[in-house]
Amino acid sequence: MLSYGPSPIQQLDIASFTTKNLQVWVKRDDLIHPFISGNKSRKLKYLLLDAAQKNQRHLVTFGGAFSNHLLATAAAAAENGFRSTGFARGEPVQNDMLLLCRLMGMDLRFVSREDYRDKQGLFYRYFFGDTDAYFIAEGAAGELGALGCEEIVTELPRDFDHIICACGTGTTVSGILNGLSAQKKHTRIHVVPILKDSGFLKEAIDGLLKSPVEYNFHSAYHFGGYAKTDEHLIDFIKKFIAKTGILIDPVYTGKAFYALFDLIEKGVIKEGGSTLVIHTGGTFGLLGMREKFFPQILSKKHR
Ligand SMILES: *Cc1c(COP(=O)(O)O)cnc(C)c1O
Repeated sequence: MLSYGPSPIQQLDIASFTTKNLQVWVKRDDLIHPFISGNKSRKLKYLLLDAAQKNQRHLVTFGGAFSNHLLATAAAAAENGFRSTGFARGEPVQNDMLLLCRLMGMDLRFVSREDYRDKQGLFYRYFFGDTDAYFIAEGAAGELGALGCEEIVTELPRDFDHIICACGTGTTVSGILNGLSAQKKHTRIHVVPILKDSGFLKEAIDGLLKSPVEYNFHSAYHFGGYAKTDEHLIDFIKKFIAKTGILIDPVYTGKAFYALFDLIEKGVIKEGGSTLVIHTGGTFGLLGMREKFFPQILSKKHR
C-alpha cells in the first residue's frame, strides 16, 4: 500500500552553480504519483496501513479548497479500497482540485471557518459511533506521517552537506531529521516555513523528533504568508520552470527553491558544497493561480 519505490534525484544544471563549484540536486518526490503527490504519499503510507490494520475503511480528513492533502487522500483511498470524506473550509465551491477529489469518490463537506477549527469536534459530530471511520489530521500531520518521511533519507544514494525542505506542519521535516539522526549523518537541514507566524512550527517539529537535533529555521521566505505571493516570487518561479522543466508552485516548493538561491547568494551555502532540495510535490496548486502567472491573458478573455 502506497509503496512506489525510491523517487529519483536529479542534478540541476545551472551556470551560476557551476561557477561556484556547487552541486545542487533535487529529490523528485513530485514524480512519485500524479495525485498522491510528493510528501503526501509518504505521510499517508503508515496512516493507511494503520487504518487497514484496525479494519477502518473510511478515511476522514480536512483541507482547504486547493488542498494537495485532500486530493492525495481521495486518490489514495480510491486506489486502496477505502472510502473518503473531506471536510473543506468555507463556502461550497467548485474548482479543478475539488473536481479531481470528487472524481476519486471523495465525499466533500463544506463547513464554516469556525467549525473547521475544531477538527476532532467535527469528526465526533459526523462520525460518532462509526467504527469504520478513520481520522487523519489536516496535512496528515503527526507521528505516523513523520515516520513515512524518514524514508526520504533511507532512499538517498549518497551524502549531502545541505538539505532544503518546505514546511507547512513540520511533519516532513521532522521525518527527515529523524532519518538523518538514525544514520548519524551531519547534513544541515534548512527548514523553509511557508506561512507567516511560524514560531509554533519549531515546537511542532521538536515534538516529533525522536532525539533533539539542530536545524536551520529560515522564517523570511513566506512572502506574506500561506499561499501569499508577490511579483518577485512569481517571476522567479516562471524563470525556474522554463529553465529546468521542473514544475514548482507558489505555495510550497517555489518558496523552498527561492530560499536555495538566496542562501547561496548570502553564502550560507558555501562554494564547493552539495545540496539536496526536496521537491515535496503539489504542482496541482498551480491550477488555482492562473491569474497570478498570466494576468494579461485573462484580461483578453482567452480563458
Ligand atoms: C503539504 C505540503 C508541504 C508541507 O509539508 P509538512 O509535512 O506539512 O510540513 C510541503 N510541500 C508540499 C508541496 C505540500 O503539498
